[in-house]
Amino acid sequence: MERKKVLIFVFCLFFILQSSSSNYVSISSLSKDLNLKVKYSLDFGYFELFNDKKKVRIFSGMPYLIYENKINYMEELIKLDKNGEILFPIAYVNLIKEYFREKPSITFEKKTNLEQKSLPSSSSKVTISSFSQSSSIKQIQPVTGEKFKPINCIIIDPGHGGKDPGGLGIGGIEEKKLVLQVSKRLYDCFRDNSSIKVFLTRRDDRYLTLKERIEMVKSILNRGYNPIFISIHGNISLKPDIYGFEIYTLSEDSTDEEAMAVELKENANFDVKDIKETEELFYILKDLIIDGLIVQSESLASFISKKISSNSEIKFKAQKKANFFVLRYNLVPSVLVEIGYISNLKEAKLLNNREYQKKLVNSLKEGIMSFIDYYNKTKGFLK
Ligand SMILES: [Zn+2]
Repeated sequence: MERKKVLIFVFCLFFILQSSSSNYVSISSLSKDLNLKVKYSLDFGYFELFNDKKKVRIFSGMPYLIYENKINYMEELIKLDKNGEILFPIAYVNLIKEYFREKPSITFEKKTNLEQKSLPSSSSKVTISSFSQSSSIKQIQPVTGEKFKPINCIIIDPGHGGKDPGGLGIGGIEEKKLVLQVSKRLYDCFRDNSSIKVFLTRRDDRYLTLKERIEMVKSILNRGYNPIFISIHGNISLKPDIYGFEIYTLSEDSTDEEAMAVELKENANFDVKDIKETEELFYILKDLIIDGLIVQSESLASFISKKISSNSEIKFKAQKKANFFVLRYNLVPSVLVEIGYISNLKEAKLLNNREYQKKLVNSLKEGIMSFIDYYNKTKGFLK
């Protein structure tokens, strides 16, 4: 009788193992099957499967599958097996197979060429000169210029939202939820400050296009405010021991490979049509004011870095540069903050903790305020 039970147990276990492993396919067998090359950065957690005509990109810790510069939101994540081999959930495999087995259409080829011309990439400098200036753009007043306007407004931008979860961290922690919570706390920090108006780009779990985020900035400018823009994100790495706070400003070239991986990840959720429309609406204007904005944004990042690193309870990792769309098309001094790694057990726990969140937003607020005070006192660094 006992033996029979053991046999049943072993049979069940075999069945469970069999069915769970058959839900995944290793990257090596998939690439062999479809005759694809693999480019990957294991350290920074993104992968590309490609042949000479097509390419898909996958991120670790983010349920995204990207091809033809379009994002497919997936239910599951890729994972590593015991030997460090990358495993794809079957849903990814089906989509990848379908995509590579389709014949590339002529329109796709044309579209790709166009995209390569007009889309900014971190490895090549792009200048756009052919867009006509629409009347709506002329309404925007650049923040630099002879007539000084003090900064009197903060736009807090919680990353991702709605269909776009952002990164998925340890214990199922979702970047979109965490950053909304932290952004609201930061918002609350300024509520008693009557000289500063604060806005949130989203207050609930909704998807915002790049264009919607930048148009919000434009409408706030048009209402006569002189804002700065803080985009709030959470980071993900395949290496579970990486942790710490990072802050980014815009640059055509990213600081290092790690910064480039963060850039790819944070840019991934905006689709090509959205990026093109935003580019057409805002890039020409941005070109006129970009130098001033970069100086101000880097100064803002330095003030925040200083306050965060002086807080012994927060691990400050780095101040870096990368080509984020939400900064690239922005019309005001702007930074992108990675509050910490939700892929690190210790930091994910801290980030989920109310007291830690309060300390974090307090240091952020101090950094932001010290920048604003300095900017306003020196009349935009001129005195
Ligand atoms: Zn993010």
